[in-house]
This record gives sequence, structure tokens and C-alpha cells, in this order.
Amino acid sequence: MLAGEDERSNLMSLRDRIGIDVGRRLRLEEALEWADEHEVRWIDIQLDAGANALSSFDDARAAGVRRACERYGVHLGLHTASAVNVAEVAPYVGDAVERYLEAYVEIAPRLGAEWIVMHAGFHFTSDKERRMAAGLDRLKRIVGHAERHGALVLLENLNKEPDEAEIHYLAHTVEDWPRVDHILQPRGRHRYAGPTGAPTTAGLADAPSG
Ligand SMILES: [Zn+2]
Repeated sequence: MLAGEDERSNLMSLRDRIGIDVGRRLRLEEALEWADEHEVRWIDIQLDAGANALSSFDDARAAGVRRACERYGVHLGLHTASAVNVAEVAPYVGDAVERYLEAYVEIAPRLGAEWIVMHAGFHFTSDKERRMAAGLDRLKRIVGHAERHGALVLLENLNKEPDEAEIHYLAHTVEDWPRVDHILQPRGRHRYAGPTGAPTTAGLADAPSG
């Protein structure tokens, strides 16, 4: 093989690993077509509102999405909103957060989505321990729910906020929350965002075993 060909095949394998977080920018079906057109093999999408609202996927639409993923060879992932506080402790609101995460788990297999990105929530400095405990318990229940539905939960780290900020994201590093390794086994995984916070599918990492 010529050196140039070798370089090209390396570039192709790199290209095949690049994923795009579509967020709320496109209707899911259009995002799949866009990915096919641009030979992007991995996409994340949020299902919170508008044309992609969770409630808008009846069985016919969900089946169409599964077929499109297969036809285009696109790996689909769901991405929950980081603005929803997984570490919520308020009565009623905490239950609603849980229902939100469960709904993502339940729709994933229907759409053929291979993973669901979740976050650890955020705290307001003085309540860090309490919120961390609430978030851990919630994620543990959600991972159990995911196991039952055959869905895979990925925990994404979030940005570090300035020390003087009142609000801080939880688990912006694994060191921030070491117990998470244990909680998310065996099917949970960590996912690391780049320094700018841009998620990257190429950065998917298996959690350590044990
Ligand atoms: Zn995210």
C-alpha cells in the first residue's frame, strides 16, 4: 500500500468516528438524511420540543426512524437537556425530572437509539452533598430502568464553572464523583466532552470494570 493510501485510510477511519450533536436544530428525519448526505455516521439529538418532542413519536414514526438509521448506516443517540437538574430535590419537581429521564429511556429502543446521554445535574454550592446524593440515587434508578428496557445510559461530564459562581455542575470530572463508576456498572458508561464542552462520540470511553 502506498503511503498516501495509508494516510487516506487513516483519515477515513477517523472520519467514520466523527459524530454530530444535532440538538434541537433539525427534525430527526431530516437530521438522518443530512447525516447520510454528509457521510456522518453518529448523531445525537434532543427530543424535548417542537418537531422532535417525545410525545410526537407514534409507532409509525418510530418505525420510520429505525428504518432510516438502518438504510443510512447512521448510529443514533439521544441527548437529554443539561438544563434539567438530575440532582433536583424539590418535591414534585424531582419526580418530574425522573419521569423525563424515564421517557428518554423508554423511547430509545423504539427509535433504535443506541445510547442516551445524561448529565449529573448541578448544585448551588452549600447544598452540594445533598444534591449529589439525590442525583446518584436518581441515576441508579434510571440505569435500572434502562436495563429493563435494553437501553444504554452514558453519563456526560459538564463544564467547570468559575469558583466564585453560585451554581456548579456536578461530575464535571470523574474525580468529582468517584462513586459514579460503581453506580453505573455494568451498562452505564462515561462520556467526556472536549475542552469547549462540545460532545464527541469519538470520546466515548468504557467505564473501568469492577
Ligand atoms: Zn450534554
